[in-house]
Amino acid sequence: MSQIVLIIGGGIAGLCAAITLQQIGMKVKVYERSTEPTVAGAGIIIAPNALQALKPYRISDEIIRQGYPSDGFHVLSDRGRPITQLAVPSGYGSLHSIHRKDLHHILLSALPPDTVEWGRSFLQLEQKDDHVRVAFSDGSQAVGDLVVAADGIHSNIRKQIFRKNIYRYAGYTCWRGVVSVDGLPGLSHRFIETWGTKGRFGIVPLPNNKLYWYALINARQSDPRIANYSTKDLHRLFQNYHDPIPSLLLKTSSQDMIHRDIVDIAPREHFYSDRVVFIGDAAHAITPNMGQGACQAMEDARILAECLRIQSNYQGAFADYDARRRERIEQISRQSWKIGKMAQSESFLFTSFRNRLMKHAPKRIYRNQAQHLYQFQL
Ligand SMILES: Cc1cc2nc3c(=O)[nH]c(=O)nc-3n(C[C@H](O)[C@H](O)[C@H](O)COP(=O)(O)OP(=O)(O)OC[C@H]3O[C@@H](n4cnc5c(N)ncnc54)[C@H](O)[C@@H]3O)c2cc1C
Repeated sequence: MSQIVLIIGGGIAGLCAAITLQQIGMKVKVYERSTEPTVAGAGIIIAPNALQALKPYRISDEIIRQGYPSDGFHVLSDRGRPITQLAVPSGYGSLHSIHRKDLHHILLSALPPDTVEWGRSFLQLEQKDDHVRVAFSDGSQAVGDLVVAADGIHSNIRKQIFRKNIYRYAGYTCWRGVVSVDGLPGLSHRFIETWGTKGRFGIVPLPNNKLYWYALINARQSDPRIANYSTKDLHRLFQNYHDPIPSLLLKTSSQDMIHRDIVDIAPREHFYSDRVVFIGDAAHAITPNMGQGACQAMEDARILAECLRIQSNYQGAFADYDARRRERIEQISRQSWKIGKMAQSESFLFTSFRNRLMKHAPKRIYRNQAQHLYQFQL
């Protein structure tokens, strides 16, 4: 099936799809609205399932080489006492943290230089019997056999085709930042998530003496007062949390923080519509509680290519892709939502009970879930 594929969106999903589809002989072009490679200044964790999915393209080796490895997350109380360890089961590899701009660079380097057309913002598409035509906001057009919609959670392609609004606000809002580790007290090489009644705080080491942090607090959606929070406001909230949380907040400049309400989209009934197939956040944005949004986008890209490789036509390939992805995406989306609700509790009674339960729960329960999560299946 050698076809012309127009990929809309040059984020993690779009670039991974370009890599996997080129590998099976498709002619691909990525159309990205940003005029140049620009990526938000935060870290990201790539899990073993995504590394397995991308193994044939040598991207995984590069992520492993450039990333910072960990055998899992340590969950702590706000005083720094261990609650539990969410370990990657032995034999499954490691989590790797990496700066998003380095990940973007790795993905771009795996593609021929003229694959991405920058500054091309999707406006609308028209599906015909034998082709699909895409119009961009600069007045230009592109014609191809298939479209891969990889234009993120606010996908204009999804809105044009499915129309119905399916966003779900999770009830909490998130800040992220990257700082140098120099001079921070109480630092560890571990990936840590701290659960307290004022909110959740994550600390993830990055290569080159940097660390990535994130803070999640319960809030009303789109609250302008909260959107204007400075690092001092966050410091006020987290000042009684264990080291190095208060110090690293003071070390971060407010302009360097990224703020975003946490929203997901319930996985749609179909991940395709005729010649258009949806991948990544455009198909199924997931709350970040399991660190799986981008990892699932990577799995999407690999499986989409496999379906297009083995099926004799795109209709069969898209139906196959949908069937292979649906259950896993729905399950992760549901579980991630539940973890968020449990982790964001502000009730002292509930959190004491939760922490005790997690501390004493048999390790095999988590291990079984983790084995399923971190195992990529074609
Ligand atoms: C706080 C937070 C932490 C997270 N941490 C992790 C983690 O540790 N691990 C993990 O696996 N996932 C994580 N995720 C999820 C992950 O960031 C996303 O799932 C992933 O970035 C989705 O990639 P994407 O390419 O589908 O979408 P996006 O990254 O949104 O990319 C979409 C691209 O499409 C472009 N685009 C949009 N509209 C148009 C248009 N009209 N025309 C052309 N181009 C367009 C955009 O400019 C962008 O480049 C996290 C998410 C959040 C919010």
